[in-house]
Amino acid sequence: MDVDVAVIGAGTAGLAAERSARRAGAKTLLIDDRFAGTTCATVGCMPSKLLIAAARAAHSVASSSKFGIGVDGYKVDGPAVLRRVRQLRDEFVQSTLKSIDELPDGVRLQGMAKFVGPNLLQVGAGQVRAKSIVVATGASPSIPKLLDNLDGILTNETVFELKDIPRSMAVLGAGPLGLELAQAFARLGARVAVFDEGEKIAALKDGKVAEVLHRLLAREFDLNLGTTIHSARNIDGGVELSLQGRTSGVQVFDCILLAAGRPPNVRALGLENSHIELNEHGVPIFDRNSMQCQNSSIFMAGDADADVPVLHEASAEGAIAGYNAASFPDIRKFPRATPFAITFVDPAVATVGKPASHDTIIGAIDFIDQGRAKVDGINSGILRLYADRNGCIEGACMAAPEGEHLAHLIAWAIETKQTAMSLLAMPIYHPTLEEGLRTALRQICKQIDSDIPGHMDQGSVPGI
Ligand SMILES: Cc1cc2nc3c(=O)[nH]c(=O)nc-3n(C[C@H](O)[C@H](O)[C@H](O)COP(=O)(O)OP(=O)(O)OC[C@H]3O[C@@H](n4cnc5c(N)ncnc54)[C@H](O)[C@@H]3O)c2cc1C
Repeated sequence: MDVDVAVIGAGTAGLAAERSARRAGAKTLLIDDRFAGTTCATVGCMPSKLLIAAARAAHSVASSSKFGIGVDGYKVDGPAVLRRVRQLRDEFVQSTLKSIDELPDGVRLQGMAKFVGPNLLQVGAGQVRAKSIVVATGASPSIPKLLDNLDGILTNETVFELKDIPRSMAVLGAGPLGLELAQAFARLGARVAVFDEGEKIAALKDGKVAEVLHRLLAREFDLNLGTTIHSARNIDGGVELSLQGRTSGVQVFDCILLAAGRPPNVRALGLENSHIELNEHGVPIFDRNSMQCQNSSIFMAGDADADVPVLHEASAEGAIAGYNAASFPDIRKFPRATPFAITFVDPAVATVGKPASHDTIIGAIDFIDQGRAKVDGINSGILRLYADRNGCIEGACMAAPEGEHLAHLIAWAIETKQTAMSLLAMPIYHPTLEEGLRTALRQICKQIDSDIPGHMDQGSVPGI
């Protein structure tokens, strides 16, 4: 088979790449081993957010007494919770399958693809020759050898198939994925313990935010950093873990959820036949503004490139890779959006823009006394806003109530090159969580000796 652009992987990145290459006039071929739906819809963003939504409902019932509302004897119906997760998940999957069904005839090819030359792929018994190739093969959970053959080991690919909420669960990995599911299962009634051999929580670089988050999450489940699993075995229908490090000893759980990384699916791709240079992890070296691997006709997109494994980036990278694959060797470099990541725990964790450096100006807000947060009984968390010496907003890190929305405002402020002064001139309604941003913005103005214009109020509205 001869095509202009072959795309390997029909996930979010691959679908975007194929669309973009076809729109640019290329004869395309989309290759996938399963065509079963994207990771996002099947075993990623959507089922995890569905579980978190149920957990949020349970938490709001469990914490309603602070409003004087007693809900005696409420119960989490585990099987019903998980049935809803799967039912709505399946609806999301159906809509991604529909977009695959709508592809023009001859664009789909099912099978595992492998490079046999820089422009030649083996797919099953046939070969595909392509002028350009986009690698959009995604990532898969890593399973440590010592847990490999045990029962009760779950990953993001199996956890949403549970029929009931387990009585106890160990989560290995204190990154975004591990923490989201740990808090959700804890709120739905499981005894949860998280173990991570590293010292970072939610991959945060801002130590102050990490400290606050650690304290808040540790109220809901057991959170153990600096702890390794020395050995594991099945006993009495569960898994016994022998722990070493800051937490040591032996603990038994109904099941173990692996959330300690999802390496890119590049090992079985035969990249050694592609003649492109790989980094020390076996991932092709590529330019993130063109997605091109050096000067070759091979392009990367999505989780496969191990750059920023989040959905909106997978989609953006797919579109750039597809466009450039179609126009190869005429390559264009495209600007990338402000870095932006959210971990859907409560309070929500978000990082936006650049991390702080030694000369960053930082304005902060502690939500403990923030008016609207107090009204809603969600007054815990912190937001730290970063600016340069001219007050230009560069980034933020937060573990904040409704932080996903505040993070969007900040991301858009960075994209549009706003300063602390220009943002203070914009309207913010009262009483809202957004008012918390004002406090941080004023602190930045004070530190850079930038006067808030005389006609603008410099005090706080009561209740902020
Ligand atoms: C539990 C979880 C929660 C998440 N939550 C969020 C979230 O809230 N927000 C967010 O932005 N991101 C989230 N993500 C990340 C997001 O899901 C991914 O960034 C995104 O789905 C990656 O898309 P992709 O196209 O790169 O990969 P995929 O969708 O995995 O597509 C890759 C495709 O390639 C196929 N393939 C692999 N190798 C071959 C081969 N050799 N030949 C043929 N086909 C092959 C695979 O079968 C698959 O169909 C989450 C991820 C997980 C696991």
